[in-house]
Amino acid sequence: MNHIPFNKPFIAGKELFYIAQAVIENRHTAGDGPFTKKCQQWLEERLGCKKALLTHSCTAALEMAAMLAGIQPGDEVIMPSFTFVSTANAFVLRGGVPVFVDVHPDTLNIDESLIDDAVSPKTRAIVPVHYAGVPCRMDAIMEIAGRRGIVVIEDAAQALLSQYRDQCVGVHGQMICLSFHETKNIISGEGGALLINDPGVIERAEIIREKGTNRSQYFRGQVDKYTWVDVGSSYLPSDILAAFLYAQMENAEQIITKRNLIFDLYMDGLRPLADAGRIRLPLVMEDSRCNGHLFYILTQSLKERTELIKFLAQREIYAVFHYVPLHTSPAGRRFGRAHGSLKVTEAVSDCLLRLPLYYEMTPEDVQRVIDAIDDFYHQG
Ligand SMILES: *Cc1c(COP(=O)(O)O)cnc(C)c1O
Repeated sequence: MNHIPFNKPFIAGKELFYIAQAVIENRHTAGDGPFTKKCQQWLEERLGCKKALLTHSCTAALEMAAMLAGIQPGDEVIMPSFTFVSTANAFVLRGGVPVFVDVHPDTLNIDESLIDDAVSPKTRAIVPVHYAGVPCRMDAIMEIAGRRGIVVIEDAAQALLSQYRDQCVGVHGQMICLSFHETKNIISGEGGALLINDPGVIERAEIIREKGTNRSQYFRGQVDKYTWVDVGSSYLPSDILAAFLYAQMENAEQIITKRNLIFDLYMDGLRPLADAGRIRLPLVMEDSRCNGHLFYILTQSLKERTELIKFLAQREIYAVFHYVPLHTSPAGRRFGRAHGSLKVTEAVSDCLLRLPLYYEMTPEDVQRVIDAIDDFYHQG
């Protein structure tokens, strides 16, 4: 019996062909070449954001967003604790203070009803994370931010092509950060993008991304000298990487349809265990479209989860968990603070188990995972 890995990166087929085109035909291997432009245009058209800029990673996009939001030492940034470290790190690098609030038990996204109370005179930004590609309740979050005069920077690393109501993730907040890391739906090994809807920061974003220079304006003929005008760093990826990414983007719809199919098989197959109260399943929001990024179950305890991981591994099925809540991590305690109790975050972090989910997974593979989980709960 072949083993079922946790993840297998999807290869669309034309990646190397487009890379050859970038190298041999276009002769453009630095950043902002023809493939970068194609990818950025694809993002702007498909998602509906005003501006898209490719970056090395979602982490890089978050760092740019923190600079563009003007985060200063002591400024507070409201975010969930149940997330990847980069969500917080990008702001800590600017001297910002992450203020961690709890998540909803149903979506594991930031509980928007707790945000208002976490806002202080020092609050500069809210950073919702669309966990598992399930969109946060953006209407409520945008309302609070608008009323309080705070910028919204979305960590949409997992949410490419997810929809909140009728609109793609990417049109709501002032800035949205995407990831094309190998573990995400659409990949380029490492990679990301910063999407911008605030026209007031687009020009500065181009400058920060190009080492603090006005190189982009110079190439467009808008200025006659190319010089150092602001702080910045090197955040633009090589066009070789964009060539790889474009081959993936051409298959985006197909990738998401397939991942959602696997997601639905898991939901149906595990429903009886959930109905019997043995495990909990993700909530599918009626008014949103999810991108099938990941599938998780919630066990009853840490001990049960540990035993289930072992049980599955014996059958050569590899399931993993995340995250250590940021407010309990050494750096999170040093740089940030928890607002109120984070009971849901702490419980979920002990009990969440991610099941294998990748494009090449067959319905038989999915059934094998479901059967194994069934056997685990019906043994002895
Ligand atoms: C993957 C991920 C990131 C980091 O993405 P990189 O492209 O690897 O920098 C950030 N936030 C969340 C929620 C993620 O899932």
